[in-house]
Amino acid sequence: MSDNRTELDQLGEFGLIDKLTENTAKFHDSTIIGIGDDAAVIDVGNKYQLVTTDMLVEGIHFDLMYVPLMHLGYKAAIVNFSDIYAMNGDVTQITVSIAVSNRFSVEAVEEIYKGIHKACELYKVDLVGGDTTSSTSGLIISITAIGEVEKDQVVLRSGGKENQLLVVTGDLGGAYVGLQVLEREKEVYSSNPEMQPMLDGKDYILERQLKPEARKDVIHFLKELGVKPTSMIDISDGLASEALHLAKHSDLGVIIYDEKIPVDQETYDTAREFNLEASMCALNGGEDYELLFSIDQADFDKIRDNKHMTIVGHYVDKASGCHIVDRGGNLVSLTAQGWNHFQG
Ligand code: ADP
Ligand code: MG
Repeated sequence: MSDNRTELDQLGEFGLIDKLTENTAKFHDSTIIGIGDDAAVIDVGNKYQLVTTDMLVEGIHFDLMYVPLMHLGYKAAIVNFSDIYAMNGDVTQITVSIAVSNRFSVEAVEEIYKGIHKACELYKVDLVGGDTTSSTSGLIISITAIGEVEKDQVVLRSGGKENQLLVVTGDLGGAYVGLQVLEREKEVYSSNPEMQPMLDGKDYILERQLKPEARKDVIHFLKELGVKPTSMIDISDGLASEALHLAKHSDLGVIIYDEKIPVDQETYDTAREFNLEASMCALNGGEDYELLFSIDQADFDKIRDNKHMTIVGHYVDKASGCHIVDRGGNLVSLTAQGWNHFQG
């Protein structure tokens, strides 16, 4: 180590990953895709195996003041499933590692596992191992998901081509707005524990935040429709950040139309309560765990009337850059203001 000290927030999450992994050697031909996609792609014979890991840390990713432990276990599994679906694959197994302090009872840890088992049951995934250790204070859950995909069906971030259409599933921004509601009620509770939380009419956005689903169904619909996305990513950090990832990996630019971004009415109304613009929550919020993918223009008719999918833009050439067309018709540079875990 040199005497120079670089602060983590100078690099940010993605800068740090790039720096740590730039000299990674590759010894095996079976490593088809290593670092840089939603999951690693490994050649295991007649199929590709997919592997991804995500860690949830107390105080960073969740606050036990308002996150029920069962939901936490469920979500920890779902966020990993989502990365496997983003490769157009199916999840087959997970391993679960936890670090817990003596602040937690056996019953509390069992609650987390109830959620993990529930997710495994619904998505048909086998829990096959893990690791258990103690922690000085906070709770950490790290899950690794393993999946598989037919070799000719794998979809990478890098497969986009100019003029292809960009599609998002479901609706966006709900998880972020749900988090604002939970944070608000936590403040109210902290100042007066007698106050009843005001959560009426917020069911949808609270569920988006506390108990998200991964879009296994969409992977299934696309197969039925005979549509293979050309590039794909899951939306964990906000539409802007993910669109920029796809553009970078596909060596292209993108245009997204603000007015096309799908937002649920409850998300829209609650965003207004917080003086937030709903489309900003969709672009820069995160944790929606929907999919963003590109399709060939020839497949447009196959998805145009599908209620689960919305066309929000298209790829352009790299020199044109990445932009959003706002509601006034202005072209605005697309920037990622997604979560930066190193900023306090
Ligand atoms: P996602 O949001 O899809 O989970 P990330 O943004 O966390 O993906 O990670 C991007 C890529 O960098 C992935 O391929 C991931 O496996 C890899 N990665 C992240 N952190 C590390 C690390 N500490 N060491 C090696 N690879 C990493
Ligand atoms: Mg991902």
